Amino acid sequence: MQILLSRMMTTAHKCGIGKCAQAVVASLDGGAFCREHFILVCYKRLDDYEALRKGPGLMAAGTESVRRFIHECTRAADHIEHTARDLDNLERAKLLHIILSASELGRHLRRSPRKAASIPVRLASDKLGGTWEEETETVLVSRYGALVRCKHPAKAGDTLSLIRSDTGATAKARVAWQRPLGEEDVRIGVEFLGCENFWGLDWAAVEDSLNPQMNTDTH
Ligand SMILES: [Zn+2]
Repeated sequence: MQILLSRMMTTAHKCGIGKCAQAVVASLDGGAFCREHFILVCYKRLDDYEALRKGPGLMAAGTESVRRFIHECTRAADHIEHTARDLDNLERAKLLHIILSASELGRHLRRSPRKAASIPVRLASDKLGGTWEEETETVLVSRYGALVRCKHPAKAGDTLSLIRSDTGATAKARVAWQRPLGEEDVRIGVEFLGCENFWGLDWAAVEDSLNPQMNTDTH
């Protein structure tokens, strides 16, 4: 354990967060953290990745960096959970939650490819007191939704209709994410509500073409 611990330490022996003076137990992306801050940093990163997943997709963070985070945080959380003698139940539960969430993140990384594609669509909101329609286009599409340019104010949780301008196909979708990129070009992430393969793409082929190495990847 001593050998493993010292290998996990980077240059710092004090936690890298502010004035924290707790001993370092884990490193993540080259930063060194005490147990409390390791847990906080992991929760924050997992939240950020979850938000990305619902928006532009994990590809936006770089799949290699997401994969490295999953590997590092799982290994460190598992190590702390097995070796720390003064863990309370809440800390143990949080460490297990981190391991579980990281493994779910890994599954999304594998099964949710996004394809850059500009498909013309019409967005329609029939929200009470705020109906609007907009001719626009997608930026990225996935099996479960899309990232779409949208000038209208659409908030997370809103339901929209998505109508393909080319085929006329219609689907209900929920706004999962929004990112204002300046006033001209706001992008929203939408998830379909019960619609299978709206884009008519062969997702297995898309995944293979985006990540040829994934077939041999074991974590
Ligand atoms: Zn700390």
